[in-house]
Amino acid sequence: MKSYTFPGNIENEILQIGAQQIPYMRTAEFSTLVKQSEQMLLELIKCPNGRVIFYTASGTGAMEAAVTNFVTQRRKAYIIAGGSFGYRWKNLCEYYACPNDVFEVPFAKDIDYDKLEEAVMESQPDVFLCQHHETSTGQLFDLEKISKICHRHHIYLVVDVISSFLADPLDMDALGIDMCITSSQKGLNIAPGLSFVVLSERMLKEPFAQRGYYFDFVENLKNLERGQTPYSPATSLFMQLHARLEKDLLMGVEAIIDGVRENAHYFRRLCKENGWEVPAEIPSNCITGFFVHRNGDVLFTELLKQQIYIMPGGTPHYFRVSHLGVQTKEDLDELATCIKEIENR
Ligand SMILES: *Cc1c(COP(=O)(O)O)cnc(C)c1O
Repeated sequence: MKSYTFPGNIENEILQIGAQQIPYMRTAEFSTLVKQSEQMLLELIKCPNGRVIFYTASGTGAMEAAVTNFVTQRRKAYIIAGGSFGYRWKNLCEYYACPNDVFEVPFAKDIDYDKLEEAVMESQPDVFLCQHHETSTGQLFDLEKISKICHRHHIYLVVDVISSFLADPLDMDALGIDMCITSSQKGLNIAPGLSFVVLSERMLKEPFAQRGYYFDFVENLKNLERGQTPYSPATSLFMQLHARLEKDLLMGVEAIIDGVRENAHYFRRLCKENGWEVPAEIPSNCITGFFVHRNGDVLFTELLKQQIYIMPGGTPHYFRVSHLGVQTKEDLDELATCIKEIENR
C-alpha cells in the first residue's frame, strides 16, 4: 500500500510499537514519557517556556478545546475562512455561541492582508482564529503578516497548525502566537488519535473558562504537573509519539522540512510536465492540490484498486497528494505515471 493521505506511510520501527503489550499509565515511567514528550514538542514548535495539553482526540477535539476554554471567555472572535478547516472554526464558534466575524478567502488564494487589517479594525475582535495551512486547498497563509496585525491591534492569536507543523517553517515564540493546535496524524506521521494544544508562556497567566469536562484546560494542566492526563490516554499512541519525537529531534526540524519540501517540489514538477494545474497561490509543503483533465470521476477508485491512496479534493477533478511520511522520488514518479495512465484511458 502507498499512502499519499494522512498520516502517510510510516516506517516499520514506529508501527511495531503499536503491536507491543500496553503498559499501565499511572506509573512514574509513563509520567516521564509524557513529560519528555511535552519538552520535545515545545522544542520542535519553538516555544520552550510554554505547555502542551495532550488530548486523546483527533485535531478537531483540540480546536474545540481552544474554543470552550478560551474563545468563549472573550467578547468576539475573528476567523479566516479559506476552506473547510476555516469554516470549522466558524462552526465551533456558532456551536458555543461565540460572537464572530469571518474573513472569507477565495479557493486556494492568499489573504489580501491590507484588506484583512481594515476589516479587523472595523470588527474589533479580541481573538483571531486561523489555519497556517488550509489543508482543503493547499494554501499556506503568512503568519508573520497575520501576527503583526494581531499585535498592532492587541488581539490574541490562535492558530491551527495541524497540517503545517513539521512541513513548513514555524517559530511559535518568534511569531508571538498565543496558542497552537496540532495533531498526531499529520507532520508527526503517527496514527490519528492524539491532539495537542500548545500554550505560550503568556497564555499560562490567562484565566480559562470551565465549560467542557473532558477538555478542561485547568484539570488537564493540573494533571500535567505529574506527567499525567486526567483520563485514560491512548497509551500506544503516546509510545509511538515519544519515539517519533526522539527521531525528529535527532534529525532536526529544518532537515525534516527540507525533506517534505523536496518531495513537494519534485511532485509539482511532475504536475507541470503532465499539465495538471496546481491552484494554490502560496502552496504549503504538506500537500500538492492539483486538477486532472480527464477521468477525475474515477481516478480515486481506480488508484485504490492498485492500493494507492490519494485524497479527493471536494471539487470536481481536484485531488490532493500529501508529502508527509516515508516517500521517495521513485514513489512520486510511479504515482504520476499511474495517474497519467488512468487519465488517458
Ligand atoms: C487534519 C486537520 C484538522 C483536524 O482534523 P481531524 O480529522 O479532527 O484530525 C484540522 N485542521 C486542519 C488544517 C487539518 O489539516
